[in-house]
Amino acid sequence: MDRQKEFVLRTIEERDIRFVRLWFTDVLGYLKSVAIAPAELEGAFTEGIGFDGSSIEGFSRVSEADTVAKPDPSTFQILPWVHKDGKPHTARIFCDITMPDGSPSWADPRHVLRRQLNKAGDLGFTCYVHPEIEFFLLKDSPEDGTEPLPADKGGYFDQAVHDTAPNFRRHAIEALESMGISVEFSHHETAPGQQEIDLRYADALSMADNIMTFRYAVKEVALLEGVNASFMPKPFSQHAGSAMHTHMSLFEGDNNAFFNPDDPMELSDTAKHFIAGILTHASEISAVTNQWVNSYKRLIHGGEAPTAASWGRANRSALVRVPMYTPNKAGSRRIEVRSPDSACNPYLTFAVLLAAGLKGIEKEYELPVEAEDDVWSLTRAERRAMGYQELPGNLDQALREMEKSELVAEALGEHVFDFFLRNKRAEWEQYRSQVTPFELKTYLSL
Ligand code: GLU
Ligand code: MG
Ligand code: MG
Repeated sequence: MDRQKEFVLRTIEERDIRFVRLWFTDVLGYLKSVAIAPAELEGAFTEGIGFDGSSIEGFSRVSEADTVAKPDPSTFQILPWVHKDGKPHTARIFCDITMPDGSPSWADPRHVLRRQLNKAGDLGFTCYVHPEIEFFLLKDSPEDGTEPLPADKGGYFDQAVHDTAPNFRRHAIEALESMGISVEFSHHETAPGQQEIDLRYADALSMADNIMTFRYAVKEVALLEGVNASFMPKPFSQHAGSAMHTHMSLFEGDNNAFFNPDDPMELSDTAKHFIAGILTHASEISAVTNQWVNSYKRLIHGGEAPTAASWGRANRSALVRVPMYTPNKAGSRRIEVRSPDSACNPYLTFAVLLAAGLKGIEKEYELPVEAEDDVWSLTRAERRAMGYQELPGNLDQALREMEKSELVAEALGEHVFDFFLRNKRAEWEQYRSQVTPFELKTYLSL
C-alpha cells in the first residue's frame, strides 16, 4: 500500500477517528457525503464504495445507477469539531467517482477539472488559483421567501467590537487552518452582514476541494455562533452580492508564465492571450461561473460586479483585473476574474475559465485595449462602440450562449454539458412562470 494511504490509516488509529465521511460534489456544486466506519476505509481505497448514482444530481441515468466513490488519500483531514468528550473524532476525505469498471465517471466535477488540468499540463502549465470568497452572515434563514436579517450592521473593513462577525471570522479561520486551508485575508465587506475570506493560493484541484470544505466549515461555525451563513449570490436587492473573485496564474516549472519583466505591465504574451481567451469566451462560460437565476441579479451596473467583457488594472467594473500591487512577489503576475459568484461549482468554474484562457493561448488571441473608463457609466451604445461585449443579463441568455459553445461542451464533456443545460433550462422555466412581488406591486393597479 502506498505511503499516503498508510499515513491515513495510521492517523485514524492514533487520533481515534470513529467516522470517516466520504465527500464528493454533484454537478450543481452541492457537497455530498457518506459516512463509513474507519474499518471500511482500507477496502474503500482499493475497491471504492458503491452507491446509487441515479439519486445524485447529474450523475447517472437509472440504467447505469451503480457508481463508485474512491477516496483520494491526499485529501484526508480531521474535522475540527469536537464530540462529547471534547475531542474531534470525525474525518473527511474527498472521493473520485468511477464507473463500476474503474474508469472515471464523466459526471464527476473533480474529473472534469482534472481533465482540463491535464490539458494544461500537456502544454507545460500548472494552474494556481486563489479565491476571495464573499458571503453573508444572517440572523435567520426564512424559508417563506421573506428577506432575511443581516447578522450585523458593519460596512467595508469595519472592526466592530460587540459583533458576531470578528469572532465568527476568527473561529472560521482557526477551523480552516486546522484542516490545512490557509487564509490570507479576512474582513467585513460593504453590505451589512457581508464577510470576505481570501484563501492562500493552491493548485486548482486542491483549491476546488478547499472551497467545498470552506463552505461547509463556514456554515458550521456560523451555526455555532448562533447565525446562518449564506453563499447565495444576491440575497438583498439594495446591497451588493457575493462574488468569488478568482485569481489565476500559470506556471511553467518554477516560473510564473504570466510574468515578463520587459513588458510595461510586466505581463507576458501568455498572460495577454489568456486574458483575451477569458474575454472572448466570457458569455459562453457565464452559465457555469454564474449558474443560478439569482446570479444575474448581482451582475448589474454599479454593483462592483462586471457587466461587460473588459479588462483593466485598477478598474473594478472590469471582468478581468490585473492586480499591480504584488508585494514581496517579484517575478509574479496573476489575473483576477471578477464574474464568478460564491455559489458556483468551483470545479466546473475553474475548468471553463482555464479552457477559455488556454484557448486564447493556443489561438494567440489578441488582447483588446484596456478599459480606462468606468464601464458602468457608459451607455450600452458606447460600450458596444468600444468593443466590449455585454455579458448575459439573465440565466436564459447565458444558456443560449452556452448551448452554442463548442468550448464549454468540450470542457465539461458531453454528459455534464447536456445535464447542465437541461437542469438549468428547467430552473429558468420555473422562475419565468412565477409572478413576483415586484410585479404585484407595480401592475396590480392596472
Ligand atoms: N461584492 C462585489 C461583487 O459582487 C465585489 C466587491 C469587491 O470588489 O470585493 O462583485
Ligand atoms: Mg470583496
Ligand atoms: Mg477582488
